[in-house]
Amino acid sequence: MAEETIFSKIIRGEIPANIVFQDDKVTAFRDISPQAPTHILIIPNKLIPTVNDVTPEDEQTLGHLFVVAAKIAKEEGIAEDGYRLVINCNKHGGQEVFHIHMHLLGGKSLGPLLSK
Ligand code: 5GP
Repeated sequence: MAEETIFSKIIRGEIPANIVFQDDKVTAFRDISPQAPTHILIIPNKLIPTVNDVTPEDEQTLGHLFVVAAKIAKEEGIAEDGYRLVINCNKHGGQEVFHIHMHLLGGKSLGPLLSK
């Protein structure tokens, strides 16, 4: 059984977060340490620690992350100029919280994908 992270507490409303969207499958909230004018984390309500733990039964939920990302990008007014979606996995990916999350970053030109 995977260990819960602070994100499970955010989903349940047990600790404060600036939640911008929630339904039965996903929760989206503003990153506590934003790296761009818009920086929102979109996460499945189900605890899946990393992309390595994804199974076929997660397809619908994880597909829904993209639907929610597109909806939020539109609401944030960044859809037309564009934005970046990032999912980090494990050490080399720079993952710090082991509950899959999609970063939605935008509101300025984000530059190259990777730092040198
Ligand atoms: P990772 O490096 O795992 O892909 O990203 C984790 C993200 O979660 C970081 O951008 C970090 O700022 C954010 N984060 C960590 N703890 C909290 C928290 O308690 N609340 C919110 N809103 N964001 C958090």
